Amino acid sequence: MYPFRYTRATDLESALSSLADDQARPIAGGTNLLDLMKEHVMRPEQLVDITRLPLQTIQKTADGGLSLGALVKNAETAAHPEVQQQYPLLSKAILAGASPQLRNMASNGGNLMQRTRCYYFYDIATACNKRQPGSGCAAQTGYNRIHAILGASEQCIAVHPSDMCVALAALEAVVHVRGPKGERRIPFADFHRLPGDQPELDNHLAPDELILAIELPPEDYSQHFEYLKVRDRHSYAFALVSAAVALQIDQGLIQSARIAMGGLAHKPWRDLKAENLLKGQAPVRACFEQAAEQLLAGAQTYAHNDFKPELAKRGLIRALERATAASERKSA
Ligand code: SF4
Repeated sequence: MYPFRYTRATDLESALSSLADDQARPIAGGTNLLDLMKEHVMRPEQLVDITRLPLQTIQKTADGGLSLGALVKNAETAAHPEVQQQYPLLSKAILAGASPQLRNMASNGGNLMQRTRCYYFYDIATACNKRQPGSGCAAQTGYNRIHAILGASEQCIAVHPSDMCVALAALEAVVHVRGPKGERRIPFADFHRLPGDQPELDNHLAPDELILAIELPPEDYSQHFEYLKVRDRHSYAFALVSAAVALQIDQGLIQSARIAMGGLAHKPWRDLKAENLLKGQAPVRACFEQAAEQLLAGAQTYAHNDFKPELAKRGLIRALERATAASERKSA
């Protein structure tokens, strides 16, 4: 570790004032940032402890949705009765991530801000455009088994590591943020970004802004849902591929479908064409196969991850089948 300054913010204004310094970073659970600092991947000169800010509640919104405070712990969010009842997909996705100890520390806002687990990003002896813009990308010619197959660029082929964010993308959450210019709401689809020619930027949150809450809209996807995660071991491993699926089925037909996939791209991946292929159809395997073909149509593989498109298709089809049967599972 290296020397840095530590400040504890007592209110939102003082936190934002401290973050106006571009060498300052906010810290809450610290489950990713401290690792990055120990490895000298990130070297903020000042840490602004935001854990005392009043962003610790989960509450109903006026429209019947739910607001998840940025500082509520992942474990608390997954166990919250309203989340379990109204957004069981989110609860399941959170519990698929990390370990109980990490979920007890990690905050909701921090989950959105966690950085890629690309091996080369963490190894400061290697070239990495995300860590050091313009230095190259060791993953392109290195070991790229866990890397992206959709939306990558010549600059970076990293994937976003979160499980929670895949479910939030499917549920069309909105990220409520505040900065020196005031508050704004960012639709989840626009929060994270593809690498393009600026892979050092993971998302559209400005450095002097803070996440206040994540808001879930009131749509009901609590009956037919699934979060399916394929990984190298049963727990405490990042997804090779994951699928968050939520369906509304009425009178034997899919009225609405939401699909988001993890492990495939620099952000949770949605394909509205794939979702539209399901709308108005009977929930049968042939229909699911069409949606999976559409979603993976543009996949580009690298030397060690050519298994991923097929794994993603099978994972998505399995998730859709399980989501269709979810109500029967519940009542069984
Ligand atoms: Fe760095 Fe991205 Fe290349 Fe990994 S894939 S080495 S994070 S530039």
